[in-house]
Amino acid sequence: MRYISTRGKAPKLNFEQAVLTGLAADGGLYVPESLPLFSSKEIASWQKLSYQELMLVVVQPFVDGEIEEAELKQIIAKSFDGFRHAAIAPLVQCGHNEWVLELFHGPTLAFKDFALQFLGHLLDAILARRKQKLVVLGATSGDTGSAAIEGCRNCENVDIFILHPWQRVSDVQRRQMTTVLSDNVFNIAVKGNFDDCQNLVKKSFADQSFLADGRQLVAVNSINWARIMAQIVYYFYAALALGGPSRPISFSVPTGNFGDIFAGYLARQMGLPVEQLIIATNQNDILHRCLRANDHSKHELIHSISPSMDIMVSSNFERLLFDLYERDGAVVSKLLADFESGSMSLSEAALSKARDVFSSSRLDDQQTLDTMRSVYDSTAYAADPHTAIGIAAARQCRSNQATPVVCMATAHPAKFPQAATQALPASEYQLPAHLSDLLERAERYEVIENNSSELHEYMRKNL
Ligand SMILES: *Cc1c(COP(=O)(O)O)cnc(C)c1O
Repeated sequence: MRYISTRGKAPKLNFEQAVLTGLAADGGLYVPESLPLFSSKEIASWQKLSYQELMLVVVQPFVDGEIEEAELKQIIAKSFDGFRHAAIAPLVQCGHNEWVLELFHGPTLAFKDFALQFLGHLLDAILARRKQKLVVLGATSGDTGSAAIEGCRNCENVDIFILHPWQRVSDVQRRQMTTVLSDNVFNIAVKGNFDDCQNLVKKSFADQSFLADGRQLVAVNSINWARIMAQIVYYFYAALALGGPSRPISFSVPTGNFGDIFAGYLARQMGLPVEQLIIATNQNDILHRCLRANDHSKHELIHSISPSMDIMVSSNFERLLFDLYERDGAVVSKLLADFESGSMSLSEAALSKARDVFSSSRLDDQQTLDTMRSVYDSTAYAADPHTAIGIAAARQCRSNQATPVVCMATAHPAKFPQAATQALPASEYQLPAHLSDLLERAERYEVIENNSSELHEYMRKNL
């Protein structure tokens, strides 16, 4: 399997290279040159598989023999060691033909553990074989950071530096990162917002000369192909649990960087009968505006009570654009250049293709809280604010009540006490036992200005 850039000008890579590379040299994102297509019969034959066994069959075509089956199996097994639910991704019903898929039973209580537990073990295995060490550098608006740190804290061949916007992440989110005191883990609070953090990361990747010889950066943000790939699996898992593939299914996905929902799109392209993919956003609604009114322009960032979706730009949307424009890298480059200078507008053909699959909705904080309350009142289900946005969007956008809709429950409510205290009884958002003393644990992190030389100085000192 080869991987190509969405902007058409970077070298083709194999799986391992794509995992280690992150952003392509031409500024694009790597995607598989072609997707595996599974027949209905083949998918149906997976009904008996455990989550881990299912993951093996879904990801094997992408890895394409570069990692031997026995080793891949082991990497997958290790990736779910830290999950605290036997089903890994259990379904809970919250309305007629309406379900939530709980993706928060991993070590950091958010769905990002699915991708980042896997990526950590995958990187360590690849690097051990290459006798190489790498530096993970990433930015987080909250959940990515802790999931990446948990994924890498025991890696022999990785040092990890995670930037978060100073005083812009919840105490629980910050402490899930800063209380990991491993020697290879470095937390940095930047005086700026999430996009400032992302820009610092981008600049560092573009010019890595600040690193000592032989050192190299690797990205674990949601543009990393291995993350998207790992997330495809739970779409199959949920569909199989609800009678797929002989029955179509819809998904509603709380969306920020468009990584999670893009994995759902890929599952559909790979043969899973997905009827609707519902993009659920908060006030940072660039994707909703794009789909509804062809308005893909940057707006000021709004800080919401669903902070893990507070973004101005959805990086993975570029991967969808590439498909909407018949995989023409030159057109994608042109669109992204337009967007750099303010906004891009899609062709009617591209928009209508997107609308065939995707619907969208946007919720403000009040509507999010109202949904948390009404879901709790009607089912006693405690949804976190991100999950609530997904549930509300599903209810607004569903085109067919006969098709089951699965709402991705992307985080545990205890991660977002600011919203939970306003909408749920206290007993519903307690931290689980393994994190119950989180607020008392010692922390370690560095506060820096929004300035790349200060960042590079700190990294050099600690490597
Ligand atoms: C990251 C995150 C999202 C958004 O996921 P994307 O892949 O960026 O669209 C939604 N909810 C929670 C809780 C998250 O941590």
